[in-house]
Amino acid sequence: MKSSRIPGFYKKTIEERRELLKQALEFSDDDLSVLASQEALPIETADKMIENVIGTFPLPLGLGLNFLINGKDYIIPMAVEEPSIVASASHIAKIVRDAGGFKTEASERIMIGQIQVVGCKDFDYAKESILNVKNELIKAANATYPSIVARGGGARDLDVRILNDSPNSNYGKMLVVHVYIDTCDAMGANIINTMVESLAPTVEEITEGKVYLRILSNLADRCIAKATCVIPPELLVTGDYSGEEVRDGVISAFEFADSDPYRAVTHNKGIMNGIDPVIIATGNDWRAVEAGAHAYASRFGSYRSMTKWSVDAEGNLVGELELPMSIGTVGGAIRVHPISQLAHKMLKTESASELAQVIVAVGLAQNLGALKALVTDGIQKGHMALHSRSVAIAAGATGEMIDIIAEQLVKLKEIRVGKAKELVEQYTK
Ligand code: NDP
Repeated sequence: MKSSRIPGFYKKTIEERRELLKQALEFSDDDLSVLASQEALPIETADKMIENVIGTFPLPLGLGLNFLINGKDYIIPMAVEEPSIVASASHIAKIVRDAGGFKTEASERIMIGQIQVVGCKDFDYAKESILNVKNELIKAANATYPSIVARGGGARDLDVRILNDSPNSNYGKMLVVHVYIDTCDAMGANIINTMVESLAPTVEEITEGKVYLRILSNLADRCIAKATCVIPPELLVTGDYSGEEVRDGVISAFEFADSDPYRAVTHNKGIMNGIDPVIIATGNDWRAVEAGAHAYASRFGSYRSMTKWSVDAEGNLVGELELPMSIGTVGGAIRVHPISQLAHKMLKTESASELAQVIVAVGLAQNLGALKALVTDGIQKGHMALHSRSVAIAAGATGEMIDIIAEQLVKLKEIRVGKAKELVEQYTK
């Protein structure tokens, strides 16, 4: 790729943007033809993806620009309906780029499969019995999915937990077997579920209990990606606000979110504003990542900020984001959805681990974008200016009328559908 820094991209027409994207990624016309197609997801394909299909539901696809991650440029496809997300991510990515870019890392990609066992006569004995044959069980799990083993993955380890052990517990005692599985570049739901289902009869036999659930856990806390950035205050100057003021405001905003779940939910929603669009564009399971991310934010006993912002000895703002990232570059809808295939081609990531790192970098950028706006002008100024176009469309504006009505709404400081309808009526008289 040439560079993800494409100045003035937002001012271009859609056609010009596609041309610039083609140049930046050295794409052919064929590569981009899916973007220009009227039906990017053919109805016949959609009909094979889910049940009772009656149509498709398109979302805007924008590009997060300026991302420099571990010294590599990325153009980030983002599928999202909310205005200002893509602009904000690209704005912060430019600041971080000027500060040397994001640094990211990832753990091993180990996913968890759970087997729930109830009604054991002796739970401690059942636990011990499972652990005694742990290696045989791992081998048996791998025998059900030899292709993932051949790819270098497969079941790696196994553990047993006993839940509701206390006599005061409201629920029945149960034993839960955890199977730890390296799913390589797949999110791995099918691999994991196949493995745990196959182990269930043996687990029942050994524990003399009854197996109910056999399913993956979306709390993928052994499949972690982490992004950091270090920004000198001079890059944070915003209008009349000094860089130090912005830096200290961001840290204070983090401390607020980290101490108050009411704030943390909104703070973290802002992080997922960046993460979900990339997950969706790349054909991944955003419900799985959402659920895992919020549970991970509660891992210390209360619901807290997903990010951490602090100041280093040189006075730089330091940002960190660490999340479970159960995504894939193969499998699920990825190979089926034409836009998702294109999104992977744009990203040029070589593994699920690399994609996971890109996604957390976008989440970190998105968080700083929101906090920087919140501690300076507030988010409404920028947000409402962008939102005004959706309001104009909702009021019936079309074509060039959209921008004209949107501008009038901003000037009047009345970004409401009612006002927009009045303006549309005046315009069309
Ligand atoms: P798939 O089963 O579609 O794809 C995984 C398969 O891709 C592997 O088994 C492997 O098969 C093949 N493959 C090719 N190249 C690779 C590689 N480099 N690394 C790993 N596998 C490779 O998808 P997943 O198992 O990932 O399942 C994801 C889907 O499951 C998502 O759509 C999700 O929505 C859904 N899901 C999610 C649940 C949840 O709780 N989150 C629950 C149930 C389903 P082979 O080796 O045979 O070629």
